[in-house]
Amino acid sequence: MTETKKLSRRELIKQGGLALSVLALPSPLPTFLNFNDMTDNQNFDVIIVGGSYAGLSAAMALGRALRNVLIIDSGLPCNRQTPHSHNFLTQDGEKPAVIADKARKEVLKYDTVKYVTDLAVNGKKTDTGFEISTQSGKSFSAKKLIFATGLKDKMLKMEGFSQCWGITVLHCPYCHGYEVKNQRTGIFANGYGAFHLARLINNWTKDLTIFTNGKSELTQEQTDEIKRHNIAIVEKKITALKHKNGVVEEILFEDNSSFELKVIYSRPPFEQHCKIPEVLGCELTEQGLIKVDGFQKTTVDHVFACGDSANPVRAVSYAVSTGNNTGVFLNNAMAEEDFSK
Ligand SMILES: Cc1cc2nc3c(=O)[nH]c(=O)nc-3n(C[C@H](O)[C@H](O)[C@H](O)COP(=O)(O)OP(=O)(O)OC[C@H]3O[C@@H](n4cnc5c(N)ncnc54)[C@H](O)[C@@H]3O)c2cc1C
Repeated sequence: MTETKKLSRRELIKQGGLALSVLALPSPLPTFLNFNDMTDNQNFDVIIVGGSYAGLSAAMALGRALRNVLIIDSGLPCNRQTPHSHNFLTQDGEKPAVIADKARKEVLKYDTVKYVTDLAVNGKKTDTGFEISTQSGKSFSAKKLIFATGLKDKMLKMEGFSQCWGITVLHCPYCHGYEVKNQRTGIFANGYGAFHLARLINNWTKDLTIFTNGKSELTQEQTDEIKRHNIAIVEKKITALKHKNGVVEEILFEDNSSFELKVIYSRPPFEQHCKIPEVLGCELTEQGLIKVDGFQKTTVDHVFACGDSANPVRAVSYAVSTGNNTGVFLNNAMAEEDFSK
């Protein structure tokens, strides 16, 4: 926090931008953190694919419940490019990787939990449960599976967009809105999405412009409401974002004009980060999330999902909460099964 006070916001963002190029690199695969693949058992009670906030939280509940757990993680959480994570008690303003590192250290204190850095590439049902194989050619088996694999945001095909993502192109005002309050802000959206975001962001800044990147699809009623709040709607086609190390400076348009601003909100489309749940037969919702019931169970027996991959609210707190619930619900199901044998 003292460091935060000494540096300007711009310097902080710049540092984050430099750090992200390191964070964005995939870790060398595989790394066995506390697992000896020559001597340790390859059969587990539970394999958790995805070892970020949701997966680690599920592992903590299960490890403490004396279940043998393997976490397989490829090291690419969706927030890796954002310099600071907000709105999670005790970790507000912390770097995303620092939160994950602390969590990993806490979870790996339990000898019931093993962790391997690798990419799970295939999964299949077996007589005793499931088998998961990895990019490095390893194969592990377990009675139950949890997918905490998150989502992959699909970057808009616009020069500068992916470089600014999470730094000055933001997905969520609850995560980052306070830090950029009252600044000159753009919204990249059209139709109801643009209306919804304008209504929401209007509370964080009054210096707001909507960029529809083509003909506006807002209804007349929505347009009138937006204009009543002095929010302009720009329909010009965008070609690029001019930026320095992810700090946006201007939007550049097809007609060679430009618009200076400090921050942009955008909710690009996403897809499941990992396709194995679909290969195993897990149904997805209309939004593209893994369908789960109130106990985080997917539509395939013995397969659970948590965090962003299965829940519409994208927040670290929510990933931690649904992950921990999943560990508890799954352990409860295993206890019932074991007791009735
Ligand atoms: C740019 C950005 C900024 C954000 N800022 C904030 C913020 O300030 N505050 C906040 O509360 N929330 C923030 N969020 C939301 C938050 O980051 C997510 O809700 C949270 O990371 C979800 O946790 P998760 O564990 O479900 O998924 P993730 O954190 O995305 O982790 C999924 C993990 O699964 C791994 N994985 C995927 N497929 C495989 C596979 N096949 N094999 C092995 N491993 C695999 C990935 O490598 C990754 O490590 C932000 C999100 C974004 C995109």
